Amino acid sequence: MALTNKKFTGPGPDQVYKDHLKNNNFSLPKCLDCGEFHFFPRVVCPHCGGFNLTWEKLSGLGEVYSTTTIRRKAERGGDYNVSLITLAEGPRLMSRVEGVEAQAVSIGDTVQVLINNDSDEPFVLFTPVSEV
Ligand SMILES: [Zn+2]
Repeated sequence: MALTNKKFTGPGPDQVYKDHLKNNNFSLPKCLDCGEFHFFPRVVCPHCGGFNLTWEKLSGLGEVYSTTTIRRKAERGGDYNVSLITLAEGPRLMSRVEGVEAQAVSIGDTVQVLINNDSDEPFVLFTPVSEV
């Protein structure tokens, strides 16, 4: 028998996440049982196992948790960074900080989400928020 899950109908959390991004809306599932957000979107809360999830728009603010510069030849786009971003709401995700030299990204930097909708597969990048 094929492994199918008939319990959940409609688009999966992955699709809902992308649909939000297509509308320039950075949202993640929030658990109504424990109050925690999570990433990547799932149908069950990874913190408490709860099913009572709701989609909530995030502030888009985060902090660089770790960053690595990936060397790349200038003709192929130059160096870029891969960073782990801790969102203000708690979840941590792998992304990239743009709008600044790859090496200039530092742990603890405040960043703001930037939704890239250039292709059919929207994704999030981050840009630095200048210190006030
Ligand atoms: Zn939960």
